[in-house]
Amino acid sequence: MSRGEQRPQDFLGGLAAAARGMGVVIKQVFRPDVTERYPQQIDEPPPRSHIGRHLLNRYENGLEKCIGCELCAYACPADAIWVEGADNDPENPVSPGERHAKDYQINYLRCIMCGLCVEACPTRALTMTHAYEMAFTSREDAIFTKEQLLEPPLPLGTAPGTQEG
Ligand code: SF4
Ligand code: SF4
Repeated sequence: MSRGEQRPQDFLGGLAAAARGMGVVIKQVFRPDVTERYPQQIDEPPPRSHIGRHLLNRYENGLEKCIGCELCAYACPADAIWVEGADNDPENPVSPGERHAKDYQINYLRCIMCGLCVEACPTRALTMTHAYEMAFTSREDAIFTKEQLLEPPLPLGTAPGTQEG
């Protein structure tokens, strides 16, 4: 066989490879659409997923679980938590025991959602929710106050600005 002349088996091999390639293309063309229509259509994360903003919890009697110990702030690698503890007024305690959090803030411009603060909390006062919709237009909006953190998050799809998404 002279140089440059193609053998029949080479030609058939090339044809088979092209057919296989076209098979992949056709399969992709008819693949079901998996584009998510967020935020018009939101798939709820699993109930036990903890991927979003924090929640400061209360006991059933309304007392706050946070005792202002600052362990969460020490555990935070991003320096995102500010806690100011204070003594409880025995006549009107905020939490059981001697101390409570007079002030508590989380800066979501710093938080990396690692959950180390939750692990460090001795009273399970601090947990994470599945509220992952966290877009802000100012630094002030990104720093959640104690009052905000004591409130359960808004349902997914209703956070300010989500409808424009
Ligand atoms: S989740 Fe991580 S980064 Fe965010 S506040 Fe807690 S410890 Fe800090
Ligand atoms: S949230 Fe937990 S770790 Fe943080 S100050 Fe309160 S009790 Fe301590």
